[in-house]
Amino acid sequence: MRPALIATLSAAIFASTISSACMGGVVETDRITLDEGNVTALLESTSQHYVDAMRSLISERYQDEYRAIRWEALENVMRDAPIARLEYHFAVNGVANVRVYHAMGGRPLGSLAKSIFEGPTRPGTPDTPASPMDIESEDEGSVRALPAVDEVAADLEDNRFYTEFDEINVRAPMMADDSSALEAFLVEGENRAFDPEFKALRAIERDLRTGVIPSGGRIQGSVSGMACTSCKYAMKRFSDTYAVDVRLAQVFPSMSRHAQAELIASGRARLRGTMLVDTVTDRPLLAADLLRGAREGQIRRSLSPRAMGRSFKGMPWARRSFRLNPIRLQRVSEGSSEGSPPPRPRVPKDPATGC
Ligand SMILES: [Zn+2]
Repeated sequence: MRPALIATLSAAIFASTISSACMGGVVETDRITLDEGNVTALLESTSQHYVDAMRSLISERYQDEYRAIRWEALENVMRDAPIARLEYHFAVNGVANVRVYHAMGGRPLGSLAKSIFEGPTRPGTPDTPASPMDIESEDEGSVRALPAVDEVAADLEDNRFYTEFDEINVRAPMMADDSSALEAFLVEGENRAFDPEFKALRAIERDLRTGVIPSGGRIQGSVSGMACTSCKYAMKRFSDTYAVDVRLAQVFPSMSRHAQAELIASGRARLRGTMLVDTVTDRPLLAADLLRGAREGQIRRSLSPRAMGRSFKGMPWARRSFRLNPIRLQRVSEGSSEGSPPPRPRVPKDPATGC
């Protein structure tokens, strides 16, 4: 894609960068629509940590046969849970340093797996941020969310399943409310303390307060969806309280018809089903589509029943075909022209599978 075209489209359609100068720092949020820069690849790498951890957890705790619908619920949750990756940049003796905070939205993995594999019925989807449409209509003063004490404990228990994090790349868990300057609220009826960018901010705050990282740094990060009002408020509070500039790139879920038509008319893009793809590489052009496809691929490679060597309870393999075709999905970071996210929409649920 021609950089000039991308720049024009980005500027024309997604110029709603929010910038608010505070006495402490500056908060800026950007919308990423096309797959520009490395945002998609970075978020894909964050997602892999959680997929791997969930695989370890299931291998240890859930060794029986389960109905296909439970596996499907697991796959949906792990594909759709919002993820965030916030870098804290700082200097030590003039040398640039960075600590990267990774978070997945929703309940801790242990709680998710428990509700999926032990629950009596199909579990609801985890807390997810509101859609952009919801955000536009938000005007609530919001009720402050209650601390989720049980979930904090459950999240702590999950620690040992995350083996790939280290001193530079750290996981941002649910944390107790204690003396945080940050508050999360209920937005659209959901407790936004579960949102990944909020978890990441809390983890950075903890490390600032305990001296793990020095003050005077800045935050640069990305999130797989649009930040809600609660998280935007938390970013502003963080910036004000700790004098830290915060810049967050949000992956916008869709593109306007006009912008899409313009890309197609330019010859650079075409539609494959409902997905906008590059005419030359056949690769999805929207960051949201690429990330979704990449996460589907991670799940297929690591977390699907087939990848884990499982069979379904009460059902021969042949009868359940919704995900069993070994479609090769590239990693975003591979950047080749092969592969693509699986087609949407998904196959309708089989009502006979019950719980
Ligand atoms: Zn939020």
